[in-house]
Amino acid sequence: MLKVCALYKAIKLPELIYNTRIDVQNKMTTRTDLRNLTQEEIVDYVESLGQPAFRGRQIMAWLYRPGISEFSQMTDLAKDFRRILSEHAYMSSFQNPLIERSKDGCVKFGFRLDDGKMIESVLIPEPDRNTLCVSSQVGCAMNCSFCLTATMGFIRNLSPAEIVNQVCAVGDFLRAESKGNLIGSDRVTNIVFMGMGEPLNNLDNLLKSLSILTEQRGLDLTNRRITVSTCGIVPQMQILGENSTANLAVSLHAVDDETRDKLMPINRRYPVAELIEACRTFPMAKRKRIMFEYILLKGINDSDAEAHKLAKLLRGIPCKINLLPYNESPAIPYKSPSYSRILSFQKILMNAKYSVFVRSSRGSDISAACGQLAREENSDIS
Ligand code: SF4
Repeated sequence: MLKVCALYKAIKLPELIYNTRIDVQNKMTTRTDLRNLTQEEIVDYVESLGQPAFRGRQIMAWLYRPGISEFSQMTDLAKDFRRILSEHAYMSSFQNPLIERSKDGCVKFGFRLDDGKMIESVLIPEPDRNTLCVSSQVGCAMNCSFCLTATMGFIRNLSPAEIVNQVCAVGDFLRAESKGNLIGSDRVTNIVFMGMGEPLNNLDNLLKSLSILTEQRGLDLTNRRITVSTCGIVPQMQILGENSTANLAVSLHAVDDETRDKLMPINRRYPVAELIEACRTFPMAKRKRIMFEYILLKGINDSDAEAHKLAKLLRGIPCKINLLPYNESPAIPYKSPSYSRILSFQKILMNAKYSVFVRSSRGSDISAACGQLAREENSDIS
């Protein structure tokens, strides 16, 4: 039986409350979205409701099961407790995403948030994996000059639930598709934080979402298959490394401060030398490698001299290099280099004994390729 004082405490815990909702009688109620909480926080939450800790672990095991949308479906919880939960908590989900399919198999999802804002995620299916590129913010404050998301400006951070629900909704899509003729697995196997936003500018919610994604009773993904990409927020990189074993990707894109200042304003705060030093000291397990992302922009950063400088700059850092030929957009003036220029740049790095991959621009026909995510709707909705 629930104690009234415990209940009062539960709904007063400010860190547990992310969302307010209007109930069907149009009365404003504040309920806790359990999908915003890590397992540890759910345990605290149920304890504050006068329940034993194991009830929290039971709830966690239900929350991310496909097809579970109501507390009434959590059949190993007492009926009274399920009723109390539905009065004070809920589990959010994304419904009816906008779906655009690319000719090359990529699928772009548009999710409308409770406040009307839109975010996007991109599914990149391959025979042996399904990688999902997720968003961490609505818009982005970093203002990189080659990026369409930057043109939206920063609107707000996503909550942990809004990050995790992208993965859940695409999981539902995959399970439905697998009844047809899907090529790969019927679940999201890999996650890259390379959608809208700078994840390290939303570090608390990023870390919570990583906990939910990797918790065995949560989405049960391994950190080995999760990559967090940053434009180079040096202090937060260290915190990420100390609190997560997810892979790190660093958007470098230039080898000198003059060029990088123009491409990525964050470089004025954390210049190339400081960023590279942070990569050298990044807390990382043996055999792990940092992924350096390098967008090739015609005439800007794609010369042989720059390839040699890049090889020298990264010397001694366990790493791989992804070369990304620029995805041209009418809204942004940069051009992609010729194929022969790309190969020449790659060859110099390979001769210097780096693992170097040239990434193809998948999803570009539906504006789902790297740096192309932006929703015009967000500028119309206040
Ligand atoms: S590239 Fe990334 S960090 Fe830079 S503006 Fe775009 S979303 Fe933000």
